[in-house]
Amino acid sequence: MTKWRSSPTLCKPKPRQPMTERRADILIFGGGANGMTAAAALAHHGLKIVVVEQADPEKLRKAGADGRTVALSHASTSLMQAIGLWNADEFDACPILDIRITDGAAPVFLHYDHRELGDAPLGHIVENWRLWNAAFSHISGLENVSYLAPSAVVDLQRDDYGARAILDDGSIIGASLVLACDGRNSHLRQAAGITAATWDYHQTAIVLTVAHDEPHANIAHERFLPAGPFAILPLHDDAKGRHRSSIVWTEQNELAAALLEFTDTRFNEELERRFGSFLGNLKIVGRRWSYPLSFLHAHRYTDTRLALIGDAAHAMHPIAGQGLNMGLRDVAALTELIVDAHHRGQDIGDNSLLSQYERWRRTDNTVLMFVTDGLNRLFSNNVAPVRAARDLGLAAVNRSPRLRRLFMRHAMGLEGDIPQLLRGEAIDTSRQSRRP
Ligand SMILES: Cc1cc2nc3c(=O)[nH]c(=O)nc-3n(C[C@H](O)[C@H](O)[C@H](O)COP(=O)(O)OP(=O)(O)OC[C@H]3O[C@@H](n4cnc5c(N)ncnc54)[C@H](O)[C@@H]3O)c2cc1C
Repeated sequence: MTKWRSSPTLCKPKPRQPMTERRADILIFGGGANGMTAAAALAHHGLKIVVVEQADPEKLRKAGADGRTVALSHASTSLMQAIGLWNADEFDACPILDIRITDGAAPVFLHYDHRELGDAPLGHIVENWRLWNAAFSHISGLENVSYLAPSAVVDLQRDDYGARAILDDGSIIGASLVLACDGRNSHLRQAAGITAATWDYHQTAIVLTVAHDEPHANIAHERFLPAGPFAILPLHDDAKGRHRSSIVWTEQNELAAALLEFTDTRFNEELERRFGSFLGNLKIVGRRWSYPLSFLHAHRYTDTRLALIGDAAHAMHPIAGQGLNMGLRDVAALTELIVDAHHRGQDIGDNSLLSQYERWRRTDNTVLMFVTDGLNRLFSNNVAPVRAARDLGLAAVNRSPRLRRLFMRHAMGLEGDIPQLLRGEAIDTSRQSRRP
């Protein structure tokens, strides 16, 4: 099977003659962060994978393709380490040592210090385009992964015996299981007739990078402002030695649209009002990005020989920086079940395996989605009694070392029934009994 390479002649023009069917164990639609991590995890355990991505990799790999950064939890980086995908230099991953949470201008705050749990950082901040490039270069080096892009499915049939896809270049791929990693507007989810609960937050996340005079000391800040959360996330210094942070600034849609139109001077004034002067003078590096925010949770994660992963199954508010981390939990859980079945010579696309995946992941995702939704509703307002109640809550957690440690372990992705790969362990196929 042809692997995508940088030469454009390998992708275009697309031949349109009938082709023989190629076989893979697993066919993945969507070559974003979840799709590529799933490919790397499954290939690491000897499975043959084809990834089909609709966008042109030349566009996805550019620094300008995605302005976001991602806060990867400790568990997510453990997964990446366990499958050989983690490379801190290539990711340019900046460790988070402390997190400070404040409610507007109120004097109370919540402080998480990684030293309360040991030496490990609470997580890492990585720029999305770097994550994409590092993951792409990793899977490009794997013999048993083919990444086909830009490419799209024109027909997908799934039945008790297997799945068969026809792509827009006429090629046919047969597989035992299909993974929908094609994001929140998942074409595969809709084509399978899987409906979803969804609502609009009427909020937009404005994302940008700033350079500042003072070092950030690896502290992440989350400020709850009346229109929504304002996060300051530490990045490594750039090549010119400038100290940098990434900003995720949530506003109501109307104000966000106006802010995005402001001149640099006016925008900077608004930014400084929210950011403060604790890191010295600010300078915006690069452009302003915007992402409309909405909630989506699929009513089912599976169908015949199909599993939804990541944003295709659940897209949440970024208030807690957990969207991708939850997708990577899906990846680790499904990989564990598939590797186990494969080891026993069982069908890896079997309905009972898919039901186990659904049971394992649905509760965890549901709880976090409603927690993030609730946090956004609780903090994105200026109602005095609500403000007083939430400040009491913040102060109570901050005073209790036990609660602080519990919340830190949650943020690090270490609580709950977590798959072995997220604990940084190899999959032990002799431990069948613990599976849900
Ligand atoms: C402002 C903001 C900040 C965030 N911060 C964090 C954070 O700090 N921590 C965190 O964990 N999460 C965060 N998230 C969430 C995180 O960005 C997403 O959960 C994550 O990117 C989802 O990855 P994915 O691979 O599932 O989907 P996507 O990134 O949407 O990738 C889907 C891929 O599928 C491709 N595709 C689509 N349709 C098809 C098709 N039919 N055929 C083939 N390919 C297709 C697309 O081109 C794309 O490459 C944030 C989100 C936002 C909006």
